[in-house]
Amino acid sequence: MDLGLHGKTAVITGGSSGIGLAAARKFLAEGANVAICARGAERLTAARDALAAEFGAEHVIAEAVSVLDATAFDGFAGHVLDRFGGVDALVNNAGQGRVSTFAETTDDAWREELELKYFSQIVPIRAFSEALKDSGQGAIMAVNSLLAYQPEPHMVCTSSARAGVQNLLKSLSVEFAPEVRVNSILVGLVDSGQWQRRFAARADQNQSREAWYADLASKKNIPLGRLGEPEEAARALVFLASPAASYITGAHLEISGGLSRFV
Ligand code: NDP
Repeated sequence: MDLGLHGKTAVITGGSSGIGLAAARKFLAEGANVAICARGAERLTAARDALAAEFGAEHVIAEAVSVLDATAFDGFAGHVLDRFGGVDALVNNAGQGRVSTFAETTDDAWREELELKYFSQIVPIRAFSEALKDSGQGAIMAVNSLLAYQPEPHMVCTSSARAGVQNLLKSLSVEFAPEVRVNSILVGLVDSGQWQRRFAARADQNQSREAWYADLASKKNIPLGRLGEPEEAARALVFLASPAASYITGAHLEISGGLSRFV
């Protein structure tokens, strides 16, 4: 199926790793230009070089900025618009989860988490909203978590903030219609940076990668019996960004191997 993304431009925050990097690869494979950002310059440069080698340097921009630094992010947005002339898809993917119960979460930790989850949406959306409106097929995709609807007590502030973000996205899907569609994916467990870090820090260092991941999928009762691959989330993002999803806005798509228990 031609997804109608050839010659279009996608911005992906947190594009140096995991789901964001897989999404960058998918958009490029569809013939789009891609701009990625992340904080860590070294990993970002490695990602940029790999994408440029595969798809051509003229289709890729990478800039080391935090989505929480509005001034720096506006600079990045300016460079993207100068280079590619517009933006058609924005994937708000940057971030990470915080493991802590209510008793363990300090006020500073709450503020930090709420800032990350909200402003990783607000800053990029504000920077690109006019360009997305001008696109004619503008789409915003948020990479959110199943925790938004199915909170976990050991990730209390992440769950709560994720729920608030879903609420924000619903409002934006109305405010930005009909020019820009706003959707999200709800990720369960996808094998990317954060799980690889947890695997590296496993209690039993003799446990193999296969055994550790199989154990995790079993403990979490994932019906499909495994973690997802970043590419499986990326495919959903590219679909939601494309005109193939032209009548979908204000919606969420679960990428969780059936982990959700709500209907
Ligand atoms: P990764 O750790 O592999 O990737 C996270 C990316 O975000 C990196 O490129 C990282 O680069 C970047 N990033 C983090 N903070 C910022 C920031 N402030 N500004 C710009 N870039 C930032 O993780 P995933 O691919 O798994 O995560 C992608 C998204 O999916 C995250 O929002 C995560 O919370 C969410 N998610 C993932 C789940 C999973 O199971 N994998 C489950 C539920 C949600 P750098 O650190 O250099 O800035």
